[in-house]
Amino acid sequence: MKDLRVKLITYGCQMNEYDTHLVASELAASGAALVETVAEANFVIVNTCAVRGKPVDKVKSLLGNLRKEKRERKTPFFIGMMGCLASLQEGRLIAEKFGVDVLLGAGAIHKISEAVSKVARENEAFWDSGFYPEVDELIPPPPRGLSAFVTLIRGCDHHCTYCVVPSTRGPEISRRPGLILKEVERLLAAGVVEVTLLGQNVNSYGKDDPSYPDFADLIRQVAALGVRRLRFVTSHPMNFSDRIISAIAETAAVGQYVHLPVQSGSDKVLKRMAREYRRDYYLERVEKLRRALPDLVLTTDIIVGFPGESEEDFQETLSLYDEVGFDSAYMFIYSPRPGTASAENFPDMPREVKVERLQRLIEKQKEWSLKRNRSWVGRSVEVLVRGVAKDDAWVEGHDQSNHPVLLEREGVSGPGLYRATIEQATPHLLLGRANERLLAPGERA
Ligand code: SF4
Repeated sequence: MKDLRVKLITYGCQMNEYDTHLVASELAASGAALVETVAEANFVIVNTCAVRGKPVDKVKSLLGNLRKEKRERKTPFFIGMMGCLASLQEGRLIAEKFGVDVLLGAGAIHKISEAVSKVARENEAFWDSGFYPEVDELIPPPPRGLSAFVTLIRGCDHHCTYCVVPSTRGPEISRRPGLILKEVERLLAAGVVEVTLLGQNVNSYGKDDPSYPDFADLIRQVAALGVRRLRFVTSHPMNFSDRIISAIAETAAVGQYVHLPVQSGSDKVLKRMAREYRRDYYLERVEKLRRALPDLVLTTDIIVGFPGESEEDFQETLSLYDEVGFDSAYMFIYSPRPGTASAENFPDMPREVKVERLQRLIEKQKEWSLKRNRSWVGRSVEVLVRGVAKDDAWVEGHDQSNHPVLLEREGVSGPGLYRATIEQATPHLLLGRANERLLAPGERA
């Protein structure tokens, strides 16, 4: 691997970021050099996302450029594709079209060094879209910085009709708790302050193996190692049990931030999506959360323009937004994905209807976000500062409730954890002033 110069490019979610870090560590351990640009590289690997049409289009356009580079280079140049799209038939067809040399599905990325060295040595393609338990045995070295991700569980046992995850990541498989705890211990020893537990459905953790703790107990066990800040994404309302709500309320490190995807406020649409719950059930979960966590910051995901969503259905999503008062939301236009039940069974609706509804939802979200963010003005928060913001007068970070925060640069001496006072709010972020640095990088809490 000594002549290999690899450039990794990542699309998609935090699980993909984690997997890219894992792959980078494996490649570096086998002697490959990791480079910053395609121009410096002789092997480019794209970690793909298949959840919506847009990221797939981006991957196709990038692969088109890489194929051109491959044709024009006078020296060997290889293309790799990994992640969700690489697990699908759609991805294999794309890979074929663009001359991809290495294709590894999300459940086969532990084979990266073997694949890359085989391709580079023998100039023969290496494709594997399978799911292997070994993928979860690897523990990546701690990343640089104060925050880190830890994968808890891969795959999903739900069958939402719009979603490709069950095909790309397979059924739920929880990682061994011993490995998770070991990985967290290493992160803490390296000075990590904030750990985010990852999974398509983290709150299902342990359901597939009765000898494992459930998610509620795992939260307690991870926090007991001394994690200063603990978060988790993402959750399915049906698995968000009372036990989990109690564990969050009793575990100071988790804070009072919860991301709970609702997707729609209409029972009719929820049924078509096969989300398994009704609006009332979701509202009951929110009420329980608010009772247990008085300062709850609640965010969600919403899909607009699902097939068959009438104006009345959309009004129900707007009214649910008002009833819950979300702090923020990730809002998406429905995009049919090949092979999903919704794409195959229901006709899509005109794009202009979807775009118009999204605009109205964004307006609603801005109103609520501003209202909710203003309630933090004057309060004292802990901000994890990553670095200097674009205009130099501010530094960027986020607080324990996951609000993006800008702090005046004066008074901030570098990355770290700061106590700060919030002075202003916009719909998108909080602005404030640092009072004291609580932790510098490398210091233990
Ligand atoms: S719960 Fe999430 S990951 Fe699982 S099928 Fe539904 S949308 Fe996809």
